[in-house]
Amino acid sequence: MTLHIATPLIESRPLSLAAQRSVWLKLDALQPCGSFKLRGVGHACEVHHARGARHFVSSSGGNAGLAVAYAGRKLGVPVTVVVPETTTERAKELLRLEDAKVVVHGSSWQEANELALTLVGAGDAFIHPFDDPLLWAGHASLVDEMAAAGFKPDAVVLSVGGGGLLSGVVEGLQRNDWGDVPVLAVETTGAASLRAAMQAGHTVELERIASVASSLGAKRVAEQALACTQLHPVQSHLVSDRAALEACERFLMDHRVLVEPACGAALALAYAGDALADFEKVLVVVCGGATATLGQIQEWLKQVE
Ligand SMILES: *Cc1c(COP(=O)(O)O)cnc(C)c1O
Repeated sequence: MTLHIATPLIESRPLSLAAQRSVWLKLDALQPCGSFKLRGVGHACEVHHARGARHFVSSSGGNAGLAVAYAGRKLGVPVTVVVPETTTERAKELLRLEDAKVVVHGSSWQEANELALTLVGAGDAFIHPFDDPLLWAGHASLVDEMAAAGFKPDAVVLSVGGGGLLSGVVEGLQRNDWGDVPVLAVETTGAASLRAAMQAGHTVELERIASVASSLGAKRVAEQALACTQLHPVQSHLVSDRAALEACERFLMDHRVLVEPACGAALALAYAGDALADFEKVLVVVCGGATATLGQIQEWLKQVE
């Protein structure tokens, strides 16, 4: 038993028509807490629980925090999530629904994270949102499920924030001997920390994040994410906030699933199609995200017009 579920793998007729090739979806938006994060976070929490951890601490007001809260509730381990003042009521409500203790502190994630680290006592576990080998090992299960289904794509499209998903998918491709399957790594223009690292040849701290895709808003990617681009074929792609938002609306119409702009970024690349020209059968990781409402997506769309 794992905390995450094996998600559906379906061929998308609307996306295949848009991209003029076969586009498949790994529907991780259907994980119980709404995003792929449960794969890695669930695995990390299970390992820490087996080692005797009595309390989980997170500093993510987003999907990573939600996954920790869910895992803690399922494992019977209390969870504290420290979030900055900028966190939406919606996100705090979702955390409380999972029985997590929510502490609001500081005006930025950095400040919330500093307090969170002071709350990690002996015997507690701090669960990082993207930079931890336990997470990557858990995220890699997404590829194992495709291999078990006998499905090998020509390319994988996914979104990149801090690069945990990228690191996990590359680990999964490598451990299934699929080193020849390239990854198309998509960021929004205002949150392009992987692109910056690939251009510089080392990880770079962005001055600021300027994107509605808050789940992609890591100012610096994990070292492992950059390392992945050196050991595996990885292409960097950028899309606008507007394209990501439009993809969210279109995907809701096409597949009746609401995802965050962070996930809309990967979908936007597939809807546009051009970047997929070299491939016949493409898999898009529908990473999901639970923190955006339809009203908010429509509001953002008005703002970017
Ligand atoms: C966390 C997250 C991402 C980015 O994942 P990283 O591991 O930080 O690169 C993308 N989409 C959603 C919905 C997320 O929650």
